[in-house]
Amino acid sequence: MRYGIIADIHSNLEAFQQVLHLLDSVDTAYCLGDIVGYGPNPSACIELLQNFDNITVAGNHDLCCAERISVSGFNSNARDVCLWTKHQLTQSAKKYLKDLPLRERTAKDILLVHGSPQNPAWEYLVSPKDAEDNFINHDFHICFVGHTHLPIIFQAATHGSYKAMQPKPNALILLNREMRYIINVGSVGQPRDGDPRASFVLFDDDTYTLQFFRVAYPVEKVQEKMRREGLPQFLIERLSFGM
Ligand code: ZN
Repeated sequence: MRYGIIADIHSNLEAFQQVLHLLDSVDTAYCLGDIVGYGPNPSACIELLQNFDNITVAGNHDLCCAERISVSGFNSNARDVCLWTKHQLTQSAKKYLKDLPLRERTAKDILLVHGSPQNPAWEYLVSPKDAEDNFINHDFHICFVGHTHLPIIFQAATHGSYKAMQPKPNALILLNREMRYIINVGSVGQPRDGDPRASFVLFDDDTYTLQFFRVAYPVEKVQEKMRREGLPQFLIERLSFGM
């Protein structure tokens, strides 16, 4: 089976549409949360996600915009956009966010969370040490995450060594069936690794290979919409640089 895995769309409709064109051939799609927040098209992104078969978990921005958590944990830009987003959401979009699970386990022992297995909404997995606690205390073979907006692979070997690997765009990565992985697929709608193109991953569990992709989208179009809506200047500018 071929899986398309996306995260952190962040209401960026143009980036999401470009990624979807390339997910045509997959058997199953997973979305790791933060569908909304930051960008100008929250309800349209939710509608698009509802149009095709997928498994989606909630991110911290989804929880906040659905009033499942308070805005107090957010910085001022994120908080302002969350309050703006709440007013933009249609009733059915809000209901969709309210019902999203925090974690999903698939039949093939794949765990899906936004941040981490131990703290699905909030924990940022940046270093192998962050990942180590999650490997030790949680049962999964592969866990796909988002949240940091930084593509990375954490690997746990059977003898208890942990390392991080930086994936190169388009490179085919052969995983080892004896090892466990936490894989951050990067962000569709607000990449932060210095590459402004939308990020997503294809995983093939027959060949046991992983491929990280980047796809360009019309950034200026999104920025123009954000300007019209009066969204924070910093959030508009960062899309140009992928930072
Ligand atoms: Zn996010």
